[in-house]
Amino acid sequence: MTRRLLALLLLSTATLAPAAEPGKPPITPQTSASGGPLDPAQKKLRLDTADLQFEVDPEREVLNGTATLNFTLLARTDRIVVDLDRNYTVTAVTVDGVDLTGAFSNPEGRATIKLPKRTPKDQTTAVVKITYGGRPHVAVRPPWDGGFMWTKTPDGQPWMATAFQMEGCDLLWPCIDYPTYEPSKVTLHITVPKGLKAPSNGKLLSVDQLDDGRSTWNWEVRDPTLYGISLNVGPYEEVSGPYQSRYGNTIPMHYWYLPGEKPQAEALFAEFAPVLDFYEGLIGPYPWGDQKVGVVETPHKGMEHQTINAYGNHYAKTANGFDDLFQHEFGHEWFANQLTASNWDDFWLHEGFTAYMQPLYGRWREGEGRYLAMMLAARPGIVSKFPLVAGKPQSAEDVYEKQPGRGGDIYTKGEWVLHTLRNQIGDRAFFDATRLLVYDRTDPQPGNFKPQFRSTPDLIRFVNQVTGKDWQWFFDVYIYAAPLPKLVQTRTGDRLTLRWDAAGKPFPLPVEVQVGDKVETVPMTANTGTLTIPEGAHVTIDPMSRILKQDDAVDAFQTWRTAQRPAGGPAR
Ligand SMILES: [Zn+2]
Repeated sequence: MTRRLLALLLLSTATLAPAAEPGKPPITPQTSASGGPLDPAQKKLRLDTADLQFEVDPEREVLNGTATLNFTLLARTDRIVVDLDRNYTVTAVTVDGVDLTGAFSNPEGRATIKLPKRTPKDQTTAVVKITYGGRPHVAVRPPWDGGFMWTKTPDGQPWMATAFQMEGCDLLWPCIDYPTYEPSKVTLHITVPKGLKAPSNGKLLSVDQLDDGRSTWNWEVRDPTLYGISLNVGPYEEVSGPYQSRYGNTIPMHYWYLPGEKPQAEALFAEFAPVLDFYEGLIGPYPWGDQKVGVVETPHKGMEHQTINAYGNHYAKTANGFDDLFQHEFGHEWFANQLTASNWDDFWLHEGFTAYMQPLYGRWREGEGRYLAMMLAARPGIVSKFPLVAGKPQSAEDVYEKQPGRGGDIYTKGEWVLHTLRNQIGDRAFFDATRLLVYDRTDPQPGNFKPQFRSTPDLIRFVNQVTGKDWQWFFDVYIYAAPLPKLVQTRTGDRLTLRWDAAGKPFPLPVEVQVGDKVETVPMTANTGTLTIPEGAHVTIDPMSRILKQDDAVDAFQTWRTAQRPAGGPAR
């Protein structure tokens, strides 16, 4: 059947409501934000495990769900508060088996279940079961303005995906939409129409065939990042195989792709093992080796959904010789899913490290030339109008999307800060500090580490620990201040004087200077250094571009590029 014929058939089916438009139904500011202030009642809860049953109906664009949430009570409470998009109709609520449907209210997307009385002192757990359903919020510009995507494959079959990084888990299930509230285990039971598959997070337990032709896909994932739990439904084909890790374990690898793309899918799958080699060799064990490596083709560009990374890059090629979208999202298994920012204010730890893994992969494959070419290609993307970290709790959107904000800088400035740091402290110290940040140890092995919630001060602490020096000044300028440090040079006779202008802050960062064929490192004690050079000799400052600093050429290029843009036109 052609795509057009199927569309005609669908239009003629009178029972179907019209397809929901992007952005519909609208969501409240509470649901739209992820990671904002917690409700006081939420601070009394820890979500231990969740069991999520979903029925996906792509024809009607409807989701029905039943969530069973197992909480630890950290204090006595008279209510349970969870986040859930109010567009869902809630039909049943129980707490410890007692029907409290009438005590449920959800005016703004932060739902309250009033308990009949305050929990007794000796009650330490609560089991909350919520049954809900309806037409969920449709994404506008996924993955950046996220939600549900109800679409069709090129041959007209249903194809559905979700992406919630900015809005959070509450678009899909009742959760506490705050990074540190990830449960230790989530089981998913996803029922889909006949002929469709539902690849999802973690390990596949079983696929149940139902009498009505539908199937239920049962998955179990440990320690999932909250926005990493996703639904993917389509007529997928699958390529899979084992990866023999240097750490002795065998990791199953899977890629689910649309029919008709076998050669491209196999070519992409062939990149999985070398990319794993790189990350395991440079950083440490794949954190989810007991689960799987999973990638699924999606209508949107990509997202680091844990063990089921979204891939929508259309097998694009680059001159760097690898699929940059796959390589990026996969890096987030370490920097987002294993290491998770404890507040979105530290989002740069996800994106900066993962962005930096790209030139490092170029270096791993081809050497320093490719590495530096990739670093320099990224450099004009740095805006530096706002500090990378504000130093106070932020929502995901605060960090990503405010214009002109630090959205791009959390990637590009982040990777350049790490590049500068590695050049200062050396590979051994840099990667030891990275391993401490990711695994809380420098000798990670499968099974000897747990997921880590991290902040920028944690990184500073580990850098100080491995170097035995205090690097706070480095981060004060690069992370907590906006303007890039400026290197001012003056030459008088045979004397070259260098001075760091770092908004009045101490910045003793040594600088390499090339005179003729000789490179010298100039110490910059008290922000200043001098070098004696032959009069009239040609001098190149920082000849290997090891340092992130203000650059007149980049500034002029950015100004020119902005002027080329038609007024009101999109940034490129
Ligand atoms: Zn990313």
